[in-house]
Amino acid sequence: MEVSAYSIDAADGRFEKTTITRREPGPTEIYFDIHYAGICHSDIHTARGEWGPATYPLVPGHEIAGVVTKVGSEVTKWKVGDRVGVGCFVDSCGECDECASGWENFCLRGETVWTYNSQGRDGLPTAGGYSRGITVEQDYVVRIPDEIPLDKAAPILCAGITTYSPLKRWGAGPGKKVAVIGVGGLGHMAVQIAAAMGAEVTGIGRTLSKRDDALAMGATDYVASSDPEAMKALRGKFDIIVTTVSDGLDLGLLLKLLRNRGVLVDVGLPEHPSQLNVAQLINGNKVLTGSNIGGIPETQEVLDFCAEHGIAPWIEVIGGEDINDAYDKVVGSKVRYRYVIDTSTFDA
Ligand SMILES: [Zn+2]
Ligand SMILES: [Zn+2]
Repeated sequence: MEVSAYSIDAADGRFEKTTITRREPGPTEIYFDIHYAGICHSDIHTARGEWGPATYPLVPGHEIAGVVTKVGSEVTKWKVGDRVGVGCFVDSCGECDECASGWENFCLRGETVWTYNSQGRDGLPTAGGYSRGITVEQDYVVRIPDEIPLDKAAPILCAGITTYSPLKRWGAGPGKKVAVIGVGGLGHMAVQIAAAMGAEVTGIGRTLSKRDDALAMGATDYVASSDPEAMKALRGKFDIIVTTVSDGLDLGLLLKLLRNRGVLVDVGLPEHPSQLNVAQLINGNKVLTGSNIGGIPETQEVLDFCAEHGIAPWIEVIGGEDINDAYDKVVGSKVRYRYVIDTSTFDA
């Protein structure tokens, strides 16, 4: 099948409209029309070669929402008309301990197939959500609850699961104080999810420009990291800190904000190695950890959680021709809080 898409040809290139080929769904695969695709900062890092060389032409997008239009002859989980989503990966071995326990993103055989810039089981490069449709193995698709519009569902597939997984693992809930460093694409989901879990949430940004938004998202406090006095007042306060920023992070400073036995979770994937005095962990039994998206069961769980609690990403819907501009605005922290591409604009 030929479908329209937006691709980039080089790290310093620009997105242009193109056509890509999707395979007809095999017996256990489905094909769905993509309605919306979120723009994740990872798309930008990959497209611009900042995480190493990418395979071009590249069609990014791993926050994908749409409606099933074809199902293979042996598909049992889905039918035409179902509202579905795909996140960061589209396949894995399905048999190793990690896959069997719902951590397909950590397939022990190294067979996790990423939604783009990877190689699919047909041997072809995978292409992501900046396209009109995608063919996927049925086990790597999640159901989008009726309560969530498709455009708002898309960012939950990466930004939502990335923040939900560690908040759940480390016990965010009533009686717990959570800080979210960087209220952007990931952080604005972390604030909403932690608040919905019942935790008391503080947002921390470079300036106070996002304060009102963060409070509307459920935070009870918002502090500028550029204000040393305000930061000092937060020392020893938090049970859990989730940091979503990828550079300029002072781990020592953040660890001071934890209470004893507190947990600092990094989901921001820093570009450079970090400096840390381990004594800061030993004194107070503090935990420093990371978290990387989540498997299929937990991705379904976060979608259901968002539907149940009436929370969703704050988005700005754009057309295909706006992708280049949107990338610059994401890098410049000008997006409030996630760009979502309306792929119907590709056929205009
Ligand atoms: Zn992402
Ligand atoms: Zn596996």
